[in-house]
Amino acid sequence: MSRIAPHSGEFRLFLTPAGKAVAPDLVAPLLPIVRALGREHELPFARIACPVEQPTLVRAKQAVTNHPRAALRCLATAELWRIHRAALDGSLGRAGRQGASLLDLKTELGRRMLRRCRLCPRRCQVSRIAGQTGFCKLTQAASVAGYSMLYNEGPLVGQPTFGLFLAGCPLRCGFCYRPQDLHPQKRQHSSPEQMASLLDQAADAGAESWHFLGGNPDQSIVAVLESLRHVRHSRPIVWNSAVYLSRKALELLKGVVDVWVPDLKFGNDACAHRLAGVQDYSAVVRRNLLSLRNEPYVVVRHMRYPGHNLCCDAVISRWLSRNLPTAIPHFFDCCGFAGDVKPSNSTMERG
Ligand code: SF4
Repeated sequence: MSRIAPHSGEFRLFLTPAGKAVAPDLVAPLLPIVRALGREHELPFARIACPVEQPTLVRAKQAVTNHPRAALRCLATAELWRIHRAALDGSLGRAGRQGASLLDLKTELGRRMLRRCRLCPRRCQVSRIAGQTGFCKLTQAASVAGYSMLYNEGPLVGQPTFGLFLAGCPLRCGFCYRPQDLHPQKRQHSSPEQMASLLDQAADAGAESWHFLGGNPDQSIVAVLESLRHVRHSRPIVWNSAVYLSRKALELLKGVVDVWVPDLKFGNDACAHRLAGVQDYSAVVRRNLLSLRNEPYVVVRHMRYPGHNLCCDAVISRWLSRNLPTAIPHFFDCCGFAGDVKPSNSTMERG
């Protein structure tokens, strides 16, 4: 068995109606329980390679422009976006070794976006750089709510994948299975260097990929990009999120993320409003999913929720086969909820 990563004291263990234990996370305290339950309950702990051969991060760290990193601060935002687009298209010429990288461009653009934060459709317009907080309650630092080696996380991500759970979320789903990660805690705030150290330790311990999830990692894009500038290793990056975020925020992720694992939770806006407290879910999330059409590794997750077979499950299945036929659908059942629930801490209020 491979080494087990340090973990934050939390893990998931479910019992199915048939009495079978399902333990998606392999963490040290879980092993005696799994052993006591007997061999038939053991999960496959075998290593599975992530199909990404060379992490995109390697390229994202190479120089793409002749502007030195420090000079980016002096460029207009429109010019930075122009260079960023050209870098993603591969239409920039060769850059000198001292030039800024795509990752440098992204972090500079990201920091500017945090000055009047509109990373997601909540559009709080607060200066997270100056320490203000909006709906997600995050300043510019990420809030690491937990981390663990994960097994059995579905296709393409490899096994084990190192899960970094980041707190803060723009949705308030009543069926959220990690409600403790909705609100960042002060003690959980991590510097980019601390996050980089966790990622490097996980790579040393045998992680096939680095897996950002939550909560929701979209609100912490800038902190994640900063941390990636400090890592010694590189691993394929898995982005497992609600994709309820702005077009520009999604652009910041392209060229760094290797495996996209977006959620498609609701088949229509009425269910999204009733269960998660947002009005514009379908337009935002479907637009973002469509913009991933040319990405090679996309797994769309949908949790089947009791009573929503026709309005959500069937609609999502049809939409995916018509609009995103190359993505892998990953449908799974909601554990522990029956019947309708209200959004948690409802919902459209700002920080
Ligand atoms: S919820 Fe957070 S990420 Fe979204 S706009 Fe508000 S402050 Fe920005």
